[in-house]
Parts: sequence; structure tokens; C-alpha cells
Amino acid sequence: MSTQADCIFCKIARGEAPAHRVCEDERTLAFMDIFPVTDGHTLVITKDHFENVFETDEDALAAVARTSHRVAAAIRSELSPDGLMVFQLNGRAAGQTVFHYHMHLMPRAQGVPLALHTRVPGVPARLAELAGRLARALVASAVVFACIGIAGCASNRERELWKNEWNGRLDAMKSDWEHPCATRPFIAWADGFLGDCENEPRGDADCDARLAWVDERVQQCRAWTAWQLRNFNQHQRSEGAAPSMRIE
Ligand code: AMP
Ligand code: ZN
Repeated sequence: MSTQADCIFCKIARGEAPAHRVCEDERTLAFMDIFPVTDGHTLVITKDHFENVFETDEDALAAVARTSHRVAAAIRSELSPDGLMVFQLNGRAAGQTVFHYHMHLMPRAQGVPLALHTRVPGVPARLAELAGRLARALVASAVVFACIGIAGCASNRERELWKNEWNGRLDAMKSDWEHPCATRPFIAWADGFLGDCENEPRGDADCDARLAWVDERVQQCRAWTAWQLRNFNQHQRSEGAAPSMRIE
């Protein structure tokens, strides 16, 4: 990552400054704008420091476009805005105030005007809530997949497929931020699933083994989430390596 010591967005990307993070991958990071012009105003930045569009390379732009597309879908599913403004400013004359390349995503409600750019601070609790909701919406498809994978005591073969898919997703993400967001809805679902099974015991040994397997995943997710809560959105990651989310 090529970063600049005193750039605020570089500091956020390095985890040295706080932000209400939504998601991240190898090249990009999305977080809530701290002076939201509309409710849900989100920024997508490159992790590398580029001052503006003229300095970026095509790959970085493509990476920002991909993340913006995903975050836009999450904004639509979570906030159901009437419209979405996507824009990006280059140079003081164009109104740029942070000189690190970034895309603005602003959900719009019909007839509701924009707040003044960079003037009115957002309410931290609201920013945190929105970041959490968008992060969860981003991984909803992974969670749905997980649920289908084990619902109704999946067969050993299905379980194996699910395991490979899950581990593959972890490998593909490289970044360690995205998947923990999946764990909270996963835990809620798996807890419910286990509870239902306890109320209606199925009895056979195979089923018990599969339930134990789901239970183990829940424990793994709990450890991950606990670690995440202690570490993310702090100035520094204080607790060393994350517990593995791989399924062995
Ligand atoms: P621009 O004027 O296009 O450069 O936009 C910069 C945006 O970054 C503005 O909307 C600011 O509200 C926002 N901003 C500045 N500092 C922070 C920060 N520390 N965390 C989140 N957003 C920020
Ligand atoms: Zn920077």
C-alpha cells in the first residue's frame, strides 16, 4: 500500500484513525462520511494514496467502481432511497476537500435537500448503526447460502460442499474485515436452528453429529465476533491475529 503519513484517509485505511467502516477488500475501503450530506452518505476510497482521478491507475478506478456497485446495492436494500447520487470531485476548484481519491454515494429521498458539504457532523450512533446495517446487507447473500447449506441437517456431502465454499470465500476475500460481519446474522440463525432442533429432537446419531458441527461453527463465529468487537474501529488492532474462521 502506498500511503501518506498525514493524509486522513490513509490513516483510516491503515487503521490509525477511526471510521464507521462498511466493508473493505484488498484495494478499497468503504466507510460512512462523517459530515453526511444525506442519511447514509458513504465514501469508497482506494487504499493506496492517489490525490485525484488524474493520479489513479485504471485498476484502482475499477476496484472503486466494483466496491461502489456493491455498496450501492446494500444502500438500496437497507435504506430503500428514492435515488442515489454517485459523484467524485477532483481539485479545489471542483470542491474537493480531502485530497485522497474517493467516491461519494449519497442516498436521496424525494424532496429532501442536501445538507451543506463537509459542514454538519453526523450523529455518531446513527453512523455506526448505518455502517453495521450496510455491512450486514453486503454479506447477506453469503449468509443465506450458509443457511441453505446446513438447514434441515444437510447430508455429509452437502456439508462438505458448504465447507469448501465457505473456506473458498475466506481465501478469496484476503481482507480480514468483511466476513466477520457475516457472523452475527449467522450466529442468530444457527442459534435459532439449534434451538428448534432441541425442541424437536430428531434422534438419529448422524443428525446429532451434524448438529454438533453446526454448534462448532457457532462457537467459531462467536470467537470471531468477540475478537472483531475488541479490535475493529479502534485506532490500533491490539489483540494480535484473529481466530481462524476456516472450517477444518
Ligand atoms: P471531497 O470534498 O469530495 O474531498 O469529500 C471529502 C469528504 O470526506 C467530505 O464529504 C467530508 O465530510 C468527508 N470526511 C472528511 N474527513 C472525514 C473523516 N475523518 N471520516 C469520514 N469522512 C470524512
Ligand atoms: Zn491518502
